[in-house]
Amino acid sequence: MTSTTGSASAGEILALVRSGRARTRRQVQELTGLSRSTLALRMSQLLNAGYVREAGQAAGPAGRPAKLLSFNEGRQLVLSVDLGATHASLAVIDAGGQVIMQAESEVRIEAAPEETLRTIAKRLTELLSRADRQIAEVVGVGVGIPAPVRYATQRPNNPPLMPGWHDYPIPETLGSLLGLPIFVDNDANLMGLGEARARYAEAPSLLFVKVGTGIGAGVILHGQPERGVAGGAGDIGHIRLFERNTGHQCTCGAYGCLATEASGGAVARALRDEGREDVQNAADVSRLLRENDTRTVELVKRAGHLLGDVLATSVALLNPSVLVLGGGMAVNGTVLIDAVRERIYERTVPLATRELLIAASALGAGAALQGARYLVVDQVFSADAVDARIELAS
Ligand SMILES: [Zn+2]
Repeated sequence: MTSTTGSASAGEILALVRSGRARTRRQVQELTGLSRSTLALRMSQLLNAGYVREAGQAAGPAGRPAKLLSFNEGRQLVLSVDLGATHASLAVIDAGGQVIMQAESEVRIEAAPEETLRTIAKRLTELLSRADRQIAEVVGVGVGIPAPVRYATQRPNNPPLMPGWHDYPIPETLGSLLGLPIFVDNDANLMGLGEARARYAEAPSLLFVKVGTGIGAGVILHGQPERGVAGGAGDIGHIRLFERNTGHQCTCGAYGCLATEASGGAVARALRDEGREDVQNAADVSRLLRENDTRTVELVKRAGHLLGDVLATSVALLNPSVLVLGGGMAVNGTVLIDAVRERIYERTVPLATRELLIAASALGAGAALQGARYLVVDQVFSADAVDARIELAS
């Protein structure tokens, strides 16, 4: 789009409004060079479709008031799903990020994928009706899964936690159950996307690391996940740190992986091995951290050092502006984050960390749900997608 051709489409105008670059018709006209009559046509298409609203008044040139344009985000709903090993978080969210209704649901990810997806479709439909909203108001569904996702097919690619899901057509199956477009991504990618857009919009690069039952990372460059050729970018949990004789066996089959030595699950296992039979899982470790349990603090510190060793390489490679740590072990106290920071500083040159912010996740458990919302909105409201729908409706 240039200011001389004056051929901007309705979808391109919506992109200008959504990004905040154009707040009035005059600004759209200045940026696009559209004639007054074409601009009027495009604007009526966007207003009729409910994508844009005109409200309030800004002071125009010579004091003439101009109506303010904005993306009509409250009219567009997204269904977000954060699928974990044993439970799923589900939400009805508007396109601007307002959570309208949220629920937790028990799921067993090791069950057949179709059964799990049927449960999710049912719960989403119930949630929407509890929110007193219609399926026709929903523009798409975003799903985060604890697995590498091949972006071209939106299918899981050799997931260690959910082996029965390899190459399973999640978008097609869930799409046929709900009659909506489905978008799938790795959960750590979505958490990173959520944090990056909501909290660090100016950051050119952000590394998100989720430390929970396992360990996963998302690499966000200029506001978009970098997924890698097979969907494996950020899959640092299975980097092997120890040999078979000193490491523990991981869900992936190998020994001594970062995920099986430094996750919340790993700390829980270590405590259990020492006779703490009340410690079952990563959530128990978070509780003990809050209680400042001495042995738990020691083990979490060791985990942070191992994680820091691996992340030092990532920080040296990317020189990111933000490193966000999420998951129970990262957000309960500062033991983990301090240990990670200490090791990264020890192992990299000052240039790599001078402008690096290391922070705990601010969105917490909602990060993946918000990331799923961005994933859907980016694609459903891309200029091409908007133009195609307007063409179809006319
Ligand atoms: Zn592994």
